Amino acid sequence: MVDTIYAEDEIIGTKKAQEIISKFRHAKVTSIKRFGEVFNPSNQNFRIQKTNPALILAKKQKGFVLDAPKGFGIGDQNNYYFSHMYNCLYDCSYCFLQGMYNSANYLVFVNFHDYQNEIEKIIKKHKEKKMTFFTGYDCDSLAMEPITNFINDFVPFFSRYKKALFEIRTKSINNSVFRKHDPLANCIIAYSLMPETLAQILDKKAPSVSARIKNMKYLANKGWRIGLRFDPLIYCENWKAQYAELFAKIFEEIKEENIHSVSLGSLRFPKSFFNKLLQYYPNSEELSFLRSNDKGIISYDQSIENEMNEYCRLELMKYSDARKFFSCG
Ligand code: SF4
Repeated sequence: MVDTIYAEDEIIGTKKAQEIISKFRHAKVTSIKRFGEVFNPSNQNFRIQKTNPALILAKKQKGFVLDAPKGFGIGDQNNYYFSHMYNCLYDCSYCFLQGMYNSANYLVFVNFHDYQNEIEKIIKKHKEKKMTFFTGYDCDSLAMEPITNFINDFVPFFSRYKKALFEIRTKSINNSVFRKHDPLANCIIAYSLMPETLAQILDKKAPSVSARIKNMKYLANKGWRIGLRFDPLIYCENWKAQYAELFAKIFEEIKEENIHSVSLGSLRFPKSFFNKLLQYYPNSEELSFLRSNDKGIISYDQSIENEMNEYCRLELMKYSDARKFFSCG
């Protein structure tokens, strides 16, 4: 999967870096001063690099935990996100990563303990508040778990802080890490979902939606709490029938009591990201419905967004308590 590894001098000798390097016995390992030398140059082509990404191991120096965007959350007062990795094993056509980074190489920050120290400080500082820590936005942490052991490190960590929710956003059906640990009431395994026929076109390299539902059912039966994330909602000709069928299928398999939260989100990009996507997928029908608004944001027409949100909420209310519904921003 990876035949080239770059590792910063400062962390190449650490246990975590060595643990990761040892998983790629045939990879060429090159030491570098700072990850930016390899990751940041602008003369790289994300799509070409995506065919054979290198792995970069680095130390995150600052900005370990960030405030989540305003309006984003699943019911708690304080919301944060953190990213131990940039870029993803999967290759979804609408993924903002390809608009955000010049490089498709996998960048892993191996100093997990610095993230944990920062999270601990935040939890202690806001003892009286309920809070959620989101992960899985700049990568799919579960998909990369066999390499990073990120969840294996963070589930025991969050077991010490029951008031803080830990959300793992994913499309992966890898469940081995969740078999190793007892279910944690404050951990939400949040699945990104869309109708199967759309996912076959857009969620490239990711497991099918049926496989995701099967895995959610397995995890729910083991006692893990599941999040349903319909984010982004994707417009297409017969979207109503497709989403209705998806919701029915999910709730046929999974008991409502196992669902922690349901969220809906709209497809939105800054214009510069979107222009890159158009270069990569000039004939995409799904992107053709998007328009620029007067704030330079690309999205569906407001009327389409509203109709999709309203329709999906009403459909979901057939199966789930509306108090569990949240907007992804
Ligand atoms: S799973 Fe998420 S992070 Fe990975 S390519 Fe798809 S949209 Fe991007």
